[in-house]
Amino acid sequence: MTDTVARRLEEVRARIDRACREAGRDPAEVRLVAVSKAHPAQAVREALAAGQVDFGESYAQELRDKAAELGVGPSVGGTRTLPVWHFLGPLQRNKVRLVVGTAVLVHAVDSERLGRAIQDRSLPRRTPVLVEVNVGGEPTKHGVDPGSCLDLCRVLHGMPGLDLKGLMCIPPATDDPTRAARFFRLLADLAAEGRARGLPLESLSMGMSQDFEVAVACGATHVRVGTAIFGERS
Ligand SMILES: *Cc1c(COP(=O)(O)O)cnc(C)c1O
Repeated sequence: MTDTVARRLEEVRARIDRACREAGRDPAEVRLVAVSKAHPAQAVREALAAGQVDFGESYAQELRDKAAELGVGPSVGGTRTLPVWHFLGPLQRNKVRLVVGTAVLVHAVDSERLGRAIQDRSLPRRTPVLVEVNVGGEPTKHGVDPGSCLDLCRVLHGMPGLDLKGLMCIPPATDDPTRAARFFRLLADLAAEGRARGLPLESLSMGMSQDFEVAVACGATHVRVGTAIFGERS
């Protein structure tokens, strides 16, 4: 198992490096978030031992439990490197307290109400956040509509308890990963438009096991990879 996680991690890192080279990008611009949701703490330990630092969780209680067991980076505890946690999932306002102070980045803020709940829990500090965009306009998906995205960003940027960093998306499911490219480009274009209007949208969280190389080619700064590192979730 240890060998498997270490080997898969190495393979994913090599694929990210190759995608960066092909796109003329510096691999240091792309952060690999290893998505450990539904995998045990032991899987996280194995990835840590293989040099992985950033981990993603999608359920607030699971994040709380794993953080209690494994610690919370980026500080170093003794000789151990502690995991740096990202929160990826939709977040209910009554679970915000389980995430603020633990996650270095909340990837899926999609409403002013949620933003306000995060800021109320954060003050006097600031929680780094991304705005999730429903790039495919799918009724069943979370995320703000592309047309309302920059207005929401403007409001969140005005909240002193939030540190707006960029945008995130999960494109419509497809069996052809190249089809995700137009959705990733839409997210990149929105961020560029926002930056032109003075919004701090430097980060682009996009790309999962199926399509992270396509996302890197389109400018991803964070790729969120679960299955390709930890195997299928049960
Ligand atoms: C589960 C999840 C991932 C990882 O998906 P894989 O296909 O296993 O790589 C990435 N992002 C989010 C938001 C997720 O919920």
